[in-house]
Amino acid sequence: MSQRPESSPFRISARDIARRPGTQKLVSESFPAPAVLGTDVIGIPEGAELSLDVSLESVSEGIWVSGTATSQAVGECGRCLDEVRLQVAAPVQGLFALEPAEGDDEDEEPEDVFEFDGETVDLEEVVRDAVATQLPFTPLCRPDCPGLCDQCGARLDQDPDHAHDVIDPRWSALQSLTEEKES
Ligand SMILES: [Zn+2]
Ligand SMILES: [Zn+2]
Repeated sequence: MSQRPESSPFRISARDIARRPGTQKLVSESFPAPAVLGTDVIGIPEGAELSLDVSLESVSEGIWVSGTATSQAVGECGRCLDEVRLQVAAPVQGLFALEPAEGDDEDEEPEDVFEFDGETVDLEEVVRDAVATQLPFTPLCRPDCPGLCDQCGARLDQDPDHAHDVIDPRWSALQSLTEEKES
C-alpha cells in the first residue's frame, strides 16, 4: 500500500488559474475531516463533516484564497466535564505564493503566506489555523456552568443548595479578602 498524501481533500487544483492574474474559481466541498482539527479540550473530530466554501483568485504573487470552513467541534466543559458541541464557521484566508516572500527581515515574516507549487493549493494548514482561532481556550457547556463541587465532585447544576460544613468561617473570610485583592 503506497501512501498518497496528494489525495488529501484539502488539496485543490489551481493549475487552470495559476499565473493568470484576474481569473478565479470557486470551490464548495464537503468531506469528512481527515484528522482532528483543534486542541486537546475541543476540536473538530476526525471524520466529522467539514464544509469548505472558498474562492481562489489568481494574483501576480500566486493564489489568494478566502472563504469559510464550517463544521461542528466537540469538546469537554472545562468546569463540569460535560460534552460541549460548538458550531464553527471559521474565516479562511491566505496567500499561496509562487515565490518565497522577498526581504530577509525575519521579524517581518508575513503571516498567512503558504507555498504554492503552481499546481495545487493545500488548504489544510490555513484551515487548521482558522479553526484554532475560533475555538475557546476553555469550552463551557454554558457560560454560567457552576461546575463540580471541589469537595466531593457532585454536579452543582443538579444540586444548587449543595454544601459541606467543612469550611472554617475564619478561613472563608480570609479567602474573600484575597479574592478582593486579586480583582
Ligand atoms: Zn459545564
Ligand atoms: Zn460536595
